[in-house]
Amino acid sequence: MIVVMKRGASPEQIQHMIERVEGLGLKAHPIYGTERTVIAAIGEKRDEHRQSLESGPGVSEVVPILAPYKVASREVRPESTVVRVGSLAVGNGIVGMIAGPCSVENYEQTVDTARAVKEAGATALRGGAFKPRTSPYSFQGLKEEGLKILAAARDETGLAVVTEVIATEDVDLVARYADVLQIGARNMQNYRLLEAAGGSGKPVLLKRGPSATMDELLLAAEYVLNAGNPNVMLCERGIRTFESHTRFTLPLASIPYLHERTHLPVVVDPSHGTGHASLVAPMASAAIAAGADGIIMEVHPDPEVAMSDGFQSLTFYQFKETMEVCRRVAEAMGRRIVPNEGG
Ligand code: PEP
Ligand code: MN
Repeated sequence: MIVVMKRGASPEQIQHMIERVEGLGLKAHPIYGTERTVIAAIGEKRDEHRQSLESGPGVSEVVPILAPYKVASREVRPESTVVRVGSLAVGNGIVGMIAGPCSVENYEQTVDTARAVKEAGATALRGGAFKPRTSPYSFQGLKEEGLKILAAARDETGLAVVTEVIATEDVDLVARYADVLQIGARNMQNYRLLEAAGGSGKPVLLKRGPSATMDELLLAAEYVLNAGNPNVMLCERGIRTFESHTRFTLPLASIPYLHERTHLPVVVDPSHGTGHASLVAPMASAAIAAGADGIIMEVHPDPEVAMSDGFQSLTFYQFKETMEVCRRVAEAMGRRIVPNEGG
């Protein structure tokens, strides 16, 4: 249920209703909007308390939440969420551009890439230190050494660091170095990991599982939100279909669909979504045209020798050209690619 407070309801009335909701054994999620405050009452119990809550002081109405996800729903929070961390801002007209190597391989490769993408206008650095690889024989990442290299690249460039965490027991370690915790496609439904990431205090970039529906993605986000972390970015990174001309199939309709249903920002990954460097720029700009709040792309100083995903990684020059197209499309759509103010 959503307890919609009247315009001008006092802080005491809001607090009173939070306590009433909690007294019913429900979790109270107050959302302080510019117009009015609403309190999402989350729990298994259905609408049985609706009438008694409606008579509370300062309450305008109590309405059921129709979507299966609650805190992520636009019904609960009509205003779009903007995630801001360090140099990165994503959402509500600001497009974040996250770029960097698939894997952190060494200091020089990562810092050179960070400098090049910053120069071209990227607003955050990506790079995997813990790599979830399909084969156990593939490069698994530099782990803590990789995190230290990412932190050094942030010191050099000022770019916020987005990096993946693949296990619950690594969340504290990764959160010590990262600005944003990436939950990868393979882990989208690892609920303990989602809760741990939610409790870390760091913003989360949640990638869609290649076989997950939109409802499943939103319910996965709900685990992070319910852990008290409002800073979740959803990431469309392509799904598995019968089609084999691209690594995955990148459904850009996810972007407007998600915007209708959730206030959370939507980031698109055209690198994993296509698996071909030549398809990244067109799909990045198409994603921005369709309303994406951010793009995450793989960039490598020499893709041919990359330890992972070289075939879909852009060279520095290709990244610069991609940024130029994206900037023009963003401008045409009335949005801006800018770093976080004061970040
Ligand atoms: C990655 O970002 O390098 C990655 C492994 O992505 P995904 O989880 O989308 O496959
Ligand atoms: Mn990759």
